[in-house]
Amino acid sequence: MADRGPETIPAGPQPEGASIFYDGTSSRRHQVQLALKDGLEIIENGTTLATWPFADIRRADGVAGILRLSCVTAPSLARLEVRDSALGAVLISRCPHLNDNAVGRRGVATIVGWSVAATVSIVAVIWFGLPLAADRLAPLVPSALERRIGDAAEGQMGAMFGGKTCSSAVGSLAFNKLMKKISTAAGFDTPVRATVLNTPVPNAFALPGGKVYLFNGLLARANDPDEIAGVLAHELGHVSHRDNTRNMIYSGGTSFLIGLLFGDVTGSGALIFASRSLFTASYSREAEQNADNFSIEVMHQLGRPTKPMGDLIFRVTGNQGDNTLSILANHPLTEDRLKHLSDENRPASGPPLLSELEWTSLKAICKSGS
Ligand SMILES: [Zn+2]
Repeated sequence: MADRGPETIPAGPQPEGASIFYDGTSSRRHQVQLALKDGLEIIENGTTLATWPFADIRRADGVAGILRLSCVTAPSLARLEVRDSALGAVLISRCPHLNDNAVGRRGVATIVGWSVAATVSIVAVIWFGLPLAADRLAPLVPSALERRIGDAAEGQMGAMFGGKTCSSAVGSLAFNKLMKKISTAAGFDTPVRATVLNTPVPNAFALPGGKVYLFNGLLARANDPDEIAGVLAHELGHVSHRDNTRNMIYSGGTSFLIGLLFGDVTGSGALIFASRSLFTASYSREAEQNADNFSIEVMHQLGRPTKPMGDLIFRVTGNQGDNTLSILANHPLTEDRLKHLSDENRPASGPPLLSELEWTSLKAICKSGS
């Protein structure tokens, strides 16, 4: 081991299972020989597949008894498994930064945080059942993770609705102006990100992490800015109350909790499953009432009427055959809700949210060339 000179170990065929290499770009399992020269050469049938500088080699997670390595300058999924303990010992002595991969302080905090959340979640499920567990868990989901979940959901949304986003220049100006007014009145520090999606489905969504989607199918049925503003403010209510995250935990249920347990909630199948459920799940009656109250407060703040929102949803859902994807499916409209929106209605005391021209531009936001 004192000898640091070029050394090839061992020259002849190695025992079955001695070293296994995954190049990180394909799933192929390479049975390889290793040569320790200036770096670690990984050789298959006389061909060098890769050379890993010793200083770049790190210990990867692994099974007991097998030295599992990765390399910071190789594809991140590349792995080398060394099953020969003598060879492993020599290799370990050559790699000065082998254990630098050990989870840093921040990583530990994250893992501890998630372990706590996972434990809490399981106890909560046993104790309260899934719906209540979702209530208790939603506030524990870090906002950075919510945003990532939202991003995954965006991908799902593209796949489900196939819609392009609409962004005619003047239409976007009007839409951003409207969103800014509503966000400010709702007390958000920064305007909530919002997009109009070009699909005939009449709906509006808020994703975990706070991105709002207005579907052109709903915009097309709206008669004035107050109708759309009420719906957008209602969506901000869901964002503010984290109803969407709660819904996702509930609908994605078990798979989400399992993902949480194994620290695999990001970019995994469980996440995709869970985010897909966002589009078919409906909010609870209580969540709907709270979002309506939020919208009512925002509209009062803006000095605008609250009834138009109810009129719009009623207009859309009154004569629509298939409600599965419409605003009715996700935001069940009840007599109570309609009555509440009417009861809280106040005549306009503030300026119109958009000028006639801006409203016309917004309605045409999905038409190209406008
Ligand atoms: Zn709702």
